[in-house]
Amino acid sequence: KKQKVTFKDVAGCDETKEELKDIVDYLKNPKKYQALGGELPKGVLLYGLPGTGKTLLARAVAGEAGVPFFTASGSEFVEMFVGVGASRVRDLFERAKKSSPAIIFLDELDAVGRSRFAGIGGGHDEREQTLNQMLVELDGFESKEGIILIGATNRPDVLDTALLRPGRFDRRINVPIPDIKGRLEILTVHAKKVKLASDADLAVIARHTPGCTGADLANIVNEAAILAAKKEQKSVDLKDLEEAIEKMLTGPQRKSRIISESEKRVVAYHEAGHTLVAKTLPGCDPGHKVTIIPRGPALGYTMQMPLEDKYLTSRTEIMNRLCVLLGGRAAEEIAIGEITTGAHDDLAKVTNYAQKMVLEFGMSDKIGPLSLKKDESEVFLGRDIMRQPAYSNETARIVDEEIKRIINDAYMKAKATLTGNRKALDAIAGRLIENEVIDAIEIDSLMAAAKPA
Ligand code: ADP
Ligand code: ZN
Repeated sequence: KKQKVTFKDVAGCDETKEELKDIVDYLKNPKKYQALGGELPKGVLLYGLPGTGKTLLARAVAGEAGVPFFTASGSEFVEMFVGVGASRVRDLFERAKKSSPAIIFLDELDAVGRSRFAGIGGGHDEREQTLNQMLVELDGFESKEGIILIGATNRPDVLDTALLRPGRFDRRINVPIPDIKGRLEILTVHAKKVKLASDADLAVIARHTPGCTGADLANIVNEAAILAAKKEQKSVDLKDLEEAIEKMLTGPQRKSRIISESEKRVVAYHEAGHTLVAKTLPGCDPGHKVTIIPRGPALGYTMQMPLEDKYLTSRTEIMNRLCVLLGGRAAEEIAIGEITTGAHDDLAKVTNYAQKMVLEFGMSDKIGPLSLKKDESEVFLGRDIMRQPAYSNETARIVDEEIKRIINDAYMKAKATLTGNRKALDAIAGRLIENEVIDAIEIDSLMAAAKPA
């Protein structure tokens, strides 16, 4: 089907749209690219929470390029009889090729694309056949043919790595939960469909809905219109919109989605803590943007990358990185006076790094330059069952002590850094509470203004 949806209908995700523009340009003028012989991506994976606009974006790519849009959902395939899913995939690709250039959109890719090894004995014949057929199709066409496959998932972490290999879904784009500016833009798009009263200030609604996705916001506008109609009003006013938020908050599954004011404060201090420690200690790049809106699902394997992306990493650098990771928890303790579960992911990473320092990198004075790492080849023998401890109980005790000491030292250092820069901590957190996002330039100027005397 030809699409009428364009990028104008998708509000508040400029970075994502920017990344998709190449694809649009390519679909519009495939000849331009074909003439130069460049390889274009065949598969683009959009990942983000449900309702963040992945389907809408895919449709908009087709709409912008003016090419037909073929769609199927992973969950449909799984419910089919054996063999049917695979033949549907074949058929889908065949039809798309006939009308190329075209877009094939595969929603809920994880339903078919789940790792084949996930869960012992969890094999699902139909799913596996469908997945295999999909891989065959992906490998069987050239990007020159003018077909772009767009996959969508909210569980990128469970996808079979075979799908993510070069030449398959090798371009991956995050579709984030919108920040306050994005929410206002999305509300504005949807409010065009209803009649707003002059008091219906959408900026107020945007401020009251941190954590909401585009679908939630579309829902709020729609719900408010229904409420207004019930009350025989001529237009939708601010009260209707606020009632609609209230209704969503008390609704069955949505309850936890909106971030409350007190949560916002905790998260703001937590993130400000990471940022400030990163800015203060050498060699820790804090990135270009900090936000208190949850980032949504991550691609599983990227999480472990930081240590590997450098050729050599010194003990000081790893220690500083631990301080940065612990800066979130430390800021909560200092500024809120209470600690939360928000740091659990940080703590897992910290523990993992500290273990590596002691067991693999020989960075603990008490253990010395030994590698106590367990032999990876044992994995083939069934992981834990066959594993022998590589060292004595006495060594194990010292290892535990050393890991604890390293983490404790880092935590103390993080806390000292934050208390020494308390003004800057408050300034960054305050700005985050107000604006939800803050960029590197602003962080620098807030820190300069709050320099300790
Ligand atoms: P997903 O595929 O990520 O689950 P959808 O694209 O199906 O999300 O979004 C559901 C609906 O929510 C859309 O049809 C649209 O009305 C609304 N929506 C989501 N994101 C946006 C956005 N960025 N701008 C405008 N509307 C949006
Ligand atoms: Zn954190």
